[in-house]
Amino acid sequence: MNNVAQMALSNKGGLRLPPLPTIRDLVKLYKLRAIKQLSQNFLMDERLTDKIVKAAGRISNNDICLEVGPGPGGITRSIIRKQPSKIILVEKDQRFLPSLELLKECAEEIMNIKLDIHQGDILKYNIETDVPDEEKRLHLIGNLPFSISTRLLINWLEDVSERRGGFRRLDTHMTLTFQKEVAERICAPLGHEQRCRLSIISQIWTQPILKFFIPGKAFVPKPKVDVGVVRIIPLREPRTDLPFKLVEKVTRHIFSMRQKYCRRGFSTLFPEDIREETTKNLFELADVDPLLRPFQLSVEEVLRLSQVYSEHIKSYPELSLYDYRGPKNMSSIAENNDI
Ligand code: SAM
Repeated sequence: MNNVAQMALSNKGGLRLPPLPTIRDLVKLYKLRAIKQLSQNFLMDERLTDKIVKAAGRISNNDICLEVGPGPGGITRSIIRKQPSKIILVEKDQRFLPSLELLKECAEEIMNIKLDIHQGDILKYNIETDVPDEEKRLHLIGNLPFSISTRLLINWLEDVSERRGGFRRLDTHMTLTFQKEVAERICAPLGHEQRCRLSIISQIWTQPILKFFIPGKAFVPKPKVDVGVVRIIPLREPRTDLPFKLVEKVTRHIFSMRQKYCRRGFSTLFPEDIREETTKNLFELADVDPLLRPFQLSVEEVLRLSQVYSEHIKSYPELSLYDYRGPKNMSSIAENNDI
């Protein structure tokens, strides 16, 4: 019998893990100095890691949890204590593999939980192949690296809109950390000073809920900012059938001039010679007040503007290639555009 199993047998109380080395000891043992480029800030306090996992809602023993960036495994331990059927860890830094292997051994041999470790980049990870389409609820959980958190969220929002990847199931939820300000932006309601593109595109396809903040000093090493934990629940009924990229583009333009009237940013979707007139017409068609500031626009208003833009470019497809930031002397039509 291995050491971990022996320790487990000496441990009473079903849901408690065997007395593994503490995360602090593991970090010391394997000399896991945080790497800045990988946005490594570790949580050592079990109460906080438990609180993050609790924010994910009920995790039943039929559910699957996928953790992004487990690092030395603090949150992983809290997930194991919830006893899902399977845990998938995606970690880029191979230095954490020994401490994660220790948890795998414990989870599989003692708790009867399947635990898969993938060493690699979450941005390239294919949830579809690794989490087969079965009747199991999927929880995406992670104390995300700041360097990729917004990009990962945008990728996943697009997956939600397309009902693909981890979001083929209707009940996949995300419980993720962000820099405090980013967390506030994602959840910012109509009229809030933090309302931005991220608020709109998050709230079109999901219901984001700001659960709580964690002070920077709770992490090792301490980041410059505090952290917000957000639970993001995909909407069962999408608010639109429009393509994600189109809505994202319209929203990005509207919010590119935050302090101005919303018509200003929207107008940059069109070349200068037709800008004013097209903008005026489309605002009328969408029945949106062009003198609102971007943060005063509701999700529905942004969607109406996206809808009229979508119909307009069906009639004038060349306009979809227009790039406001492109070279002016090339009739401002970009060669590559994502819409
Ligand atoms: N979960 C641990 C905790 O809470 O203490 C570590 C969190 S730390 C903020 C972010 C973790 O994500 C690090 O372990 C880092 O190596 C990992 N990471 C960074 N970029 C990644 C990527 N592209 N894909 C997967 N993991 C990544």
